[in-house]
Amino acid sequence: MKRVGIPRSLFFFTYLPFWYTFWAELGYEVVVSPLTNKGILDKGVEEASTDLCVPVKVFHGHVAYLAGQQVDAIFLPRMVNAGSQATFCPKFLALPEMVKCSMTDLPPLVEVRVDLTSPWSLRSLCHKIQQEWAPGKDFGAAYRRAVLAQEAFQAALTRGELVGSALKPYTGDEGDKPKAEEALKSELDIAVLGYPYTVHDAFLNGGLLRKLRRLGARVHTADMVPIRELRRYRMHKDLFWHYSNMVFKAGKFWLQPERRVDGIIHVSTFACGPDAMVGKMLELEAKARGVPLIALTLDEQTGQAGLDTRIEAFVDMLARRKTGAYNISVHG
Ligand code: SF4
Repeated sequence: MKRVGIPRSLFFFTYLPFWYTFWAELGYEVVVSPLTNKGILDKGVEEASTDLCVPVKVFHGHVAYLAGQQVDAIFLPRMVNAGSQATFCPKFLALPEMVKCSMTDLPPLVEVRVDLTSPWSLRSLCHKIQQEWAPGKDFGAAYRRAVLAQEAFQAALTRGELVGSALKPYTGDEGDKPKAEEALKSELDIAVLGYPYTVHDAFLNGGLLRKLRRLGARVHTADMVPIRELRRYRMHKDLFWHYSNMVFKAGKFWLQPERRVDGIIHVSTFACGPDAMVGKMLELEAKARGVPLIALTLDEQTGQAGLDTRIEAFVDMLARRKTGAYNISVHG
């Protein structure tokens, strides 16, 4: 059986169910790289250009891992458009070139352009992949099952089953589902807003989601907001980037009076251009609603102790604010 590798990074956290199912239905054994760990991060830092953001460096580390697994190909799409006016960040657009320029001894790359500006684009892209990589296989059945898998994943996210758990059928991970006792003692609602590949990569963010739940918070993320809800929030002009729009509009969603959260944590990464705008816009939005916001900026040097201290202090402040232990004016 042929083997295809999928890096557990970037687009993985949003689209794995579709692509995993599609390749498996085409008769491939799908090899998913493990959870990010120190070895993968170090390898990514070594292979990638120094001025890249840490998620893209981590992506290089996952590709390097897969290259050592005797796979017949690595799935490395150029993510251009997910069906709206916005494109993905330029680093997504140039991903195949970046990897090929900085890494050697790679297996063949499945380097396809994912541009879903027309409703039929995904279907024809999948057909093209099947013809080139799995001639003779039943394209229609593989495509339909992949669509169903993706829909089930989106529904699980909306129900609050965070990505670690919702991806379990494809990765076998234990998952990151809240334990019953964690949910019971939850008193605070905190929106953790950031790109899925930083919010759900526990190594990169120092186990942020689990830590918040242990501190008694119910966690809400941007990808838990149904797409139809995000579409309701119109801006004078949308941002250029797909994930940035998602994060900002999710911020507006979690700040609505009927579901207003107690606080927002904006998870950002050093050297991220789009986040410079999203962060400021979220800050202004939260300020207008009187909701405290803290920004955590991650890079490969981020220390666990520093993160823990900031998170604990923020949660403590929110708890005191909620119980009236003290009254503070947020954002100065
Ligand atoms: S949006 Fe930011 S964090 Fe994501 S790939 Fe682009 S520069 Fe990196």
